[in-house]
Amino acid sequence: MLLWVFLIIAVVVIMVGVVFFYRLKKKKVKSNDDKTLQEISQGNSSHKSQEKILLDAIADGVYIVDFERNLTLLNPAAERITGWKSSEVTGLKCWSILNLKNDKDVSVCQNDCPVVKCWQTGAYVTREDTCLLHHQNKNTVEISSSYTPLKDEAGHNIGAVCIFRDETERKEIQRQRDEFVSTASHELRTPITALEGYISIIENDKICKTDDRAKEYLEKAHNTALGMSTLVKNLLTVTRVQNSKMALNKTVFSLHDLVSETVESLQDLANNKKLYLKINEIENPAFTGERAIGRSLNVNADRDKIQEVLYNLIENSVKYTREGGVVMSISYDRDFATVCVSDTGLGIPGDAQEHIFEKFYRVDSTETRENGGTGLGLFITRAIIEMSGGKIWLESQVGKGTKFYFTIPLSMN
Ligand code: ADP
Repeated sequence: MLLWVFLIIAVVVIMVGVVFFYRLKKKKVKSNDDKTLQEISQGNSSHKSQEKILLDAIADGVYIVDFERNLTLLNPAAERITGWKSSEVTGLKCWSILNLKNDKDVSVCQNDCPVVKCWQTGAYVTREDTCLLHHQNKNTVEISSSYTPLKDEAGHNIGAVCIFRDETERKEIQRQRDEFVSTASHELRTPITALEGYISIIENDKICKTDDRAKEYLEKAHNTALGMSTLVKNLLTVTRVQNSKMALNKTVFSLHDLVSETVESLQDLANNKKLYLKINEIENPAFTGERAIGRSLNVNADRDKIQEVLYNLIENSVKYTREGGVVMSISYDRDFATVCVSDTGLGIPGDAQEHIFEKFYRVDSTETRENGGTGLGLFITRAIIEMSGGKIWLESQVGKGTKFYFTIPLSMN
């Protein structure tokens, strides 16, 4: 969403730049590039140009730099966010004024300048992370930002335009919300575990006498407690992922053995729905010659976490499949093992596929509503795979089924 907003604003700002250049050329005002940028900056025409009105009206901060990274313009929103007046900083190096840092307090301007990057790539650059911008009053402001090169008619870079947004308040609200979820989840974990334990005791015939009706209700209560326990566990994992606190305990292990083990432990789940769950015979590739050196079919990852991924994907496949079943397969190339979990289930509509790994996202269908769930499983799954150095993606057709693929780096020994 944010990317789209930035893209739209970038297009408007670039159009402003282009129109301005065009007008300048027609009026034969100045051909010098630096002067051109100054013209944009100061709206230096006899009347307040439409372009200047547009820049002033944009709610996001906009600043323009020349090819030496000297600031040539801050629009009013940028002045508000940075605390600097455009006239005070025009001609000064952008890095000396804005002094962008990442959340580890490392200078973005010095090590990873996005303006330089957009010149090098010749394309629009968006900072996915939040940068800390130095405010004139010495505080910092959290911003999201995007950068676009400005080119002259010959296609040479003559400057860049940055569009940025103050994210401080939104991030603070997000932080408070995460803290609340984390605290609530921690507090809930103990009573839910106790509840689960007591229900198990009552369900045990050797300890308590219950009639069939009570048993039925107890089973429902037990399932509900289990669902709550999973939700709390997932919420805690999500908080850990968001705070980059999920630790991986990497070891070298056979992915084939792990898949077999997991498939075996989930057989009952599939059988209960009269679905098959099987592993396709794996063709071991013959690594020969140079490719064989230092290669094995073992992977290097956190075994428990990869098993969690397998559980999530297989349980989903079983959950969202009415007939047929689930087939697992593994293939290997030079650097990665690829696992495919293929089902003959409901399938995922095209427009839902791009959101499927988002937090709390669930496809809006009767089947999804009937099957309980939190919409957190795939978010956590993707986080684990990406942290392990792999990728995850899917292919799906409504009514035909879904294939989830993920890769894991092979061990080097
Ligand atoms: P949950 O299953 O708890 O709702 P997930 O994050 O695991 O959450 O999945 C998100 C959504 O993706 C599910 O609600 C479901 O709509 C859809 N989904 C996931 N896996 C499949 C699948 N194999 N087939 C069809 N839909 C799926």
